[in-house]
Amino acid sequence: MGSDLFSNPDQWGNPIQNTWYEDTAGTSFSAPIFEGKEDCDTLIIGGGLAGLALKSMLSEYQISCILLEENTIASGASGMNGGFCTPGWSVDQLQLENWLGVSRASQLYSISLAGFQWMKELCQKIDSSISQIKHGVLKACSSNKISKLESKVHIFNEKYEESIHFLKKDELLQYLLSPRYDCGLLDLQSFQFNPLNVMRSLAFSIQSKTGKIFENSKATDVVGYKGGYRARTFYGGVINAKRLVFCTGGYFSNLGVSSLNKKLFSLQTSIGVTQPLGQNLSGIISNNIAIHDNRRAGNYFRILPDRRLLWGRDIRAIGMQTRRQIIYNTKEELKFFFPKQAKIFDDIEVDYGWSGKLGYSSNLMPYLGFMKPNLFILTGFGGHGMNTAPAAASLIRDAILGNRSKMQIFEDFIPTWNGGVLGRYAAEMYIRWLKICDQINMA
Ligand SMILES: Cc1cc2nc3c(=O)[nH]c(=O)nc-3n(C[C@H](O)[C@H](O)[C@H](O)COP(=O)(O)OP(=O)(O)OC[C@H]3O[C@@H](n4cnc5c(N)ncnc54)[C@H](O)[C@@H]3O)c2cc1C
Repeated sequence: MGSDLFSNPDQWGNPIQNTWYEDTAGTSFSAPIFEGKEDCDTLIIGGGLAGLALKSMLSEYQISCILLEENTIASGASGMNGGFCTPGWSVDQLQLENWLGVSRASQLYSISLAGFQWMKELCQKIDSSISQIKHGVLKACSSNKISKLESKVHIFNEKYEESIHFLKKDELLQYLLSPRYDCGLLDLQSFQFNPLNVMRSLAFSIQSKTGKIFENSKATDVVGYKGGYRARTFYGGVINAKRLVFCTGGYFSNLGVSSLNKKLFSLQTSIGVTQPLGQNLSGIISNNIAIHDNRRAGNYFRILPDRRLLWGRDIRAIGMQTRRQIIYNTKEELKFFFPKQAKIFDDIEVDYGWSGKLGYSSNLMPYLGFMKPNLFILTGFGGHGMNTAPAAASLIRDAILGNRSKMQIFEDFIPTWNGGVLGRYAAEMYIRWLKICDQINMA
């Protein structure tokens, strides 16, 4: 991230600091720095959900595996996200059907469901005061084709054996008192949870079984070595591994053998968290259901256990927002979405504002597979990683164990060159265009 235009001065250092999740964390986790020299079968670079899920899955097969994390575990997107877990991918399922046909799109949906179940079971194993799991996710829709949307939901339910409830405007208002939306899709199987607590609990359980997780241990250079790979770490450690897996999310950098920086986009999205709102919100936003909307550059929000409102917002490829800007814009958006309650939102404080990076390919699907012999990529989950990262990790695990058949479906999505700096500007222009369309639809 060379240029100032692309970097956020608030985010130098460990990105998880100064988030609500860190300030209220119900779990702690720490791991040593990697120093010295070691050999292993599989080296995982990146300690977000993708890296942790893969390490956890490989540990069941006695494969010696080391995980290196540059900062602290889950200090990237995995520990600071909105905390929504729903089936599917970043790309809409019907869009996938258009691209791949129903049969292959259904195969992808099943893979995403397996990741969703894995995540749900993980959350359910953890004390509920720590995981903070709550079922029910509502998609609030702004649409002038309501009956078409309703029939799409029925078709989707039949085809994928789901039970999404279509809510007409008067039913939607029981969950969300905003004039900006026309109908809703309620999924009572999907859930919200505290991502940082859950990631740390997962890391703790892996560490107690197999160890070999290292924090503050950035991989600084990776080269091919005796048919495998040799990685050097920031404090002079050396690891020789038969296989290497990049799980670096939107935090990738140019690391010798990988050229992720030439293939993926690192986009940014932000979260603002208000002061505790007491009874101010009763009847305005449901206390139990997490809500996101159907706009491409959309919002996602939910009430936290201490009755603060978490408001997820914005996506951008350049011109990163400072904490002050996130806080200001959160307030402005709240007044726009809840015009009758503008006075309440004018008076409240937004106590937290942070942003995190998302790895995206231009087709919005994960980048999953081989870059070179024994060099695997497990990344690019965009804004929909909480089920897709473990789903994809299980395919990489299978490939490491010798079964590559399921992973082949991702061959169609292997990203090509991202266009460098120009590509990044093009991505920003595209996002701005989407934002304008969103505004016109909502006006
Ligand atoms: C604000 C925000 C809100 C979101 N909300 C949701 C949501 O509600 N639901 C949902 O499903 N998804 C959401 N997402 C997306 C989701 O969080 C991501 O898709 C997912 O966490 C990606 O996981 P990951 O392991 O690939 O990447 P990350 O969690 O970003 O992990 C990558 C890790 O790699 C490390 N790393 C990078 N380079 C090196 C190196 N050289 N050496 C060692 N370590 C390195 C980084 O430090 C980082 O910890 C959100 C994302 C953000 C940013």
